[in-house]
Amino acid sequence: MTRVPRRALSLGLLAALVPLLSACGPSGDRAGAGGEGAGPVELVVYSERREPLIQPVFDRYREETGVRIRFLTDAAPVLIERLAAEGANTRADILMAVDAGNLWQAAERGVLAPVSSDALEAAIPANFRDPDGRWFGFSLRARTILYATERVDPAELSTYEDLADPKWQGRLCLRSSRKVYNQSLTATLIERLGAEEAEAVLSGWVANLAMDPTPDDTMLINAIAAGRCDVGIANSYYFGRVQADNPDVPVAIFWPNQPGSGSDGSGVHVNVSGAGLTAHAPNPEAATAFLEWLGTPEVQKLFAEVNYEFPARADVASDPLVEAWGDFQPDPIDVVVAGRRQSEAVRMMDRVGWR
Ligand code: FE
Repeated sequence: MTRVPRRALSLGLLAALVPLLSACGPSGDRAGAGGEGAGPVELVVYSERREPLIQPVFDRYREETGVRIRFLTDAAPVLIERLAAEGANTRADILMAVDAGNLWQAAERGVLAPVSSDALEAAIPANFRDPDGRWFGFSLRARTILYATERVDPAELSTYEDLADPKWQGRLCLRSSRKVYNQSLTATLIERLGAEEAEAVLSGWVANLAMDPTPDDTMLINAIAAGRCDVGIANSYYFGRVQADNPDVPVAIFWPNQPGSGSDGSGVHVNVSGAGLTAHAPNPEAATAFLEWLGTPEVQKLFAEVNYEFPARADVASDPLVEAWGDFQPDPIDVVVAGRRQSEAVRMMDRVGWR
């Protein structure tokens, strides 16, 4: 029943977005067109990752290989529906999206094709890619605890679960439950703790809220800095951006659920930003070569650094600002769980009144 309006919507968006793609490259260029000898000279990427974070990467690729990359950016659900509507007529070779929850949805929707690549399998740890090769994580972000350095002693902090304790009543900030980042975090809590315990944690968080959930992570960090709340949960790179702008911001990062901290040592929730080959890519070989290039050490460094993220490859160092946050034990859980349990997570967030 919901398919008809969704399809109508996506076709409408399709019409609206075609000019956007054209605007991304010099006029007269045609995506996927040959013309400079054998093989494609252009690839087309649909990207949820924003222009400032992808343009430097695409520029580097062109310098190194001569292959030009054209792109359009939008939210993952819009790009996924666009790919589904375009079907075999799509000009997109690659879909880039943030969060395994979104990448999983793309794979489920059938808009991604499996890639079998020894290079990618060697570069990207198995828990940060689709087991069928339909997407690969290329950078990592931690969804972790942030706290007010003037009002919280880090010794008071321990785990995500502990933020449900009444001692945090009226002191906690959360982002809206509509964001996939919180859905993925909740999905992993359900996987780790079981549904009953996870729901008790979520209820405790909602009971401890200092204010309505924020629309984004940056506002959450700013609310902590401004004294509207003392602790919150946000993605690490948002804190990196805030810190880059204001090194003296009275907020610090805390790594929860570490071994020996009175917790189960399950580790920090880590998610990915990643990409996959589209199911009807006009240039599948060139697109696969680009994905493999994203997994190489130098590019891993660039891809992560532009957004204060961690490279997916364990053998590549992070930006110094990120390194300064210190080492932590990540949750080794397979990020595919974020997708598999997404609808269960959304229902649970609804039940506990997390808006
Ligand atoms: Fe984000």
